Amino acid sequence: MARVHNYYAGPAALPVEVLEAVREELIEWAGTGMSVMETSHRSPEYDAVHNETIADFKELMGMGDDWKILFLQGGASLQFAMVPMNLLGEGRSADYIQTGVWSRKALKEAKIIGNVCVAGSTEQDGVFFRIPKQDELDLDPNAVYCHVTSNNTIFGTQWRQFPDTGGVPIVSDMSSDILSRKLDVSRFGIIYAGAQKNLGPSGVTVVAIRDDMIEKCNDGLLTLLSYKTHVDKNSLFNTPPTFSIYLVGKVLKWLKGKGGVDGIEKENAEKAKLIYGTIEGNPDFFSTPIEPESRSHMNFVFRLPTEDLEKKFIAEGKEAGFIGLKGHRSVGGCRISAYNVNGLDSVKDVVALMKDFAAKNG
Ligand SMILES: *Cc1c(COP(=O)(O)O)cnc(C)c1O
Repeated sequence: MARVHNYYAGPAALPVEVLEAVREELIEWAGTGMSVMETSHRSPEYDAVHNETIADFKELMGMGDDWKILFLQGGASLQFAMVPMNLLGEGRSADYIQTGVWSRKALKEAKIIGNVCVAGSTEQDGVFFRIPKQDELDLDPNAVYCHVTSNNTIFGTQWRQFPDTGGVPIVSDMSSDILSRKLDVSRFGIIYAGAQKNLGPSGVTVVAIRDDMIEKCNDGLLTLLSYKTHVDKNSLFNTPPTFSIYLVGKVLKWLKGKGGVDGIEKENAEKAKLIYGTIEGNPDFFSTPIEPESRSHMNFVFRLPTEDLEKKFIAEGKEAGFIGLKGHRSVGGCRISAYNVNGLDSVKDVVALMKDFAAKNG
C-alpha cells in the first residue's frame, strides 16, 4: 500500500482505519443492503449514526446538556455570516480579534450585518505572526460575543490561552484545531469548525451552540440561516450531508480509541516539540517568523535560507512521499500541517527529512 505522509492543510489526512472501515461498508452497511449514502436521512439506521456522532462529539468536547450540536453546510465560511445574522441587531455589538486571513473574513461578513469592533489585531505589513497579549486588547464588556480564530491555519499561530473576555462569550472558529486539546468550554458561546481539517471530510460544518446563545438568536431570519431552525430539527430540517457526518462519527470513535482529547493533546505537544526543536536546532538553515508563545501545534510555518532551497525541499519531500509542504501563497515558505491524524511516527519521519536536507544543503 502506498499511502503518503499527507501534510495538506485541508482537506487533510483521514485515519487509514477509518477509510478501511468505510470501504468495508460501502456496498452494504449496517445490515441495510445499501450504503449509508443511499439511506434515507429519516431511517432508524441513519438516525443512530447522527445521534451517536452528536453524543461522541459532546463527550470529547466535555459539553453538557446545555450545548446543542449542529451539522450544517456552507463550510466555516457560512458561519462567518450566520453568527452575526443570528446574534447582532439593534443595540448589540460584537468584538472581533484579528489574527489572520480567516478572522479577517469573519470580520468582513459581520460588518455587512451589524455593529462590530476590532478589539485587537496583530497585523503588520499584511501578515500576522503572533497572537495579541491580553493588555493589547480593547474588549467591550457589553459585547454580545467576542470572535476569535483559535488556530490560524495559514500563518501558523494559535491562541495557546484564550483571552479573558470578562464573561463575554467567546465565539470561536476552531476549523483547524478542534478536539486537538482540552478546552474550558464554559468560556465559549459558539464553537464552529469545517470538518475537513481535524474532524473528517469536507461537506459538513460542526457548530456547537450553548442554550443561552440560542435564546439570544434573532427571529425572522431566512429559515435555513437560523440556528433555531437547526436546533429545533436536530439538523434534520433538510437533508444533511449524511456521508460526511457518518465519516465524522468514525473519526470521533478513532479519537476516543487514541485516548480522547487528553491523549491527542499530549501527542500534538510532542509533535510540536520535535518540529520546533528541529527548526531551532538548525538556526543557520531553518527559521520561523512566529513568536514562541504564539506557535501553533497544528500548522508549522517555517523558512529555509532561500526560496530556491524551499522549492527544492518541497520537491524532494514530495519525491520521498511527503505531500503538502508548501506554505500558503500569502506567506510563502514551507508549512507542515500536522493535525490529530498525522501521528508522531510520521512527524519523526518528516523531521528526519528536514534534518537530512539541512545537512546536505546547509
Ligand atoms: C480552512 C479554514 C476555514 C475555511 O473553511 P471552509 O469550510 O472552506 O469555509 C475557515 N477558518 C479556518 C480557521 C480554516 O482553517
